[in-house]
Amino acid sequence: MLSPQQVRAGRAPQRHTRCVTVGGIAIGGRAPVVVQSMTNTDTADALATAMQVAELARAGSELVRITVNTREAAAAVPEIRNRLLAMGLDVPLIGDFHFNGHKLLAEVPACAEALAKLRINPGNVGKGARRDEQFGQLIEIAARYGKPVRIGVNWGSLDQQLLARVMDENARRAEPKDATGIMREAMVASALESAGRAEDLGLSGDMIVLSCKVSGVQDLIAVYRDLAQRCSYPLHLGLTEAGMGSKGIVASTAAMAVLLQEGIGDTIRVSLTPEPGGDRTREVVVAQEILQTMGLRAFVPMVAACPGCGRTTSTVFQELAQDVQAYVRERMPGWRLARVGVEEMTLAVMGCVVNGPGESKHASIGISLPGTGEEPVAPVYVDGERVTILRGDAIAAEFKQIIEDYVARTYAPRS
Ligand code: SF4
Repeated sequence: MLSPQQVRAGRAPQRHTRCVTVGGIAIGGRAPVVVQSMTNTDTADALATAMQVAELARAGSELVRITVNTREAAAAVPEIRNRLLAMGLDVPLIGDFHFNGHKLLAEVPACAEALAKLRINPGNVGKGARRDEQFGQLIEIAARYGKPVRIGVNWGSLDQQLLARVMDENARRAEPKDATGIMREAMVASALESAGRAEDLGLSGDMIVLSCKVSGVQDLIAVYRDLAQRCSYPLHLGLTEAGMGSKGIVASTAAMAVLLQEGIGDTIRVSLTPEPGGDRTREVVVAQEILQTMGLRAFVPMVAACPGCGRTTSTVFQELAQDVQAYVRERMPGWRLARVGVEEMTLAVMGCVVNGPGESKHASIGISLPGTGEEPVAPVYVDGERVTILRGDAIAAEFKQIIEDYVARTYAPRS
């Protein structure tokens, strides 16, 4: 049966998967799609990493991944966890391991204890016979400490032995696949075979999440459709190396929206390259916006704003839209703690009377600012009814007060 959100979104039912619990957060099963992110600090710098994890968690990241690449980084993980707990943040940490994870986890057991999940890239575990041995060591540690594992294949570091085998098999086919098809097949095979090996080594199937990240939109869609058909592990979605700014956002959204609409994907990350000195939390906001605009989850009140046109030549309405958007994001952590359901509230900030009143009536609260040549008044609608008209220089402050009053009146206090 479709959930009310799925009915509203016209979305396929979420694919039936096992449920993996990571530090108290459910991934898969019938759980909502989980938002995650990754730090870019030097993990050995426990203070800087804890501060960035805290920023990401406060922005809404429900899981945060950190690189664990050196002994110093591994040793810093318990301190990072303790610093977060001291800040009142119990966000689960995922350790990202490549090449030396088996050694680091064996040498620093407190690192394994402090992490909620391990991410293992089967293409970067080791070469030849040592590959299987080191993979086995990682799985044995995960099982011993009761830590779920994401087997995360990445096309940039695809297991070369496996790729060679898939190419050989392909060459013997009557109708061989092209290079793209081989790459896709090898990625899925790497994920599924690694998961099978992990289960053979004693890791329970409900401790495994899979991902197969590529940087091409069509590749991602094809690979995940295949993966979703062939297993019941929860899937972590993300376009790797998505890029900067609007390019990264558009590419990630284009790829993930198609899959999420088909019910594929249990946790997502938007891998944006931040602008130099840019805000790392942007990737969390974008991930939330993808899920919320698709009607899959609600995180913060949505602000609808018209694009503006020649009918509104002043910047007043753009400034108000930006101001209101920032205000609800800033207020949401407090509202969430105090009230139930505030994230369902919708707001509209419109530029003139053409679509302003109509759009405002569809929102919980809407305001329609005067367009060029219109009377300098701004009617405000609450739940479809015009309740007041604002005018003068204090429109923004008065509109925010109307929002505050609405929240206090409409959403029940948390007990
Ligand atoms: S609501 Fe008015 S200002 Fe906004 S886009 Fe439509 S016509 Fe232009």
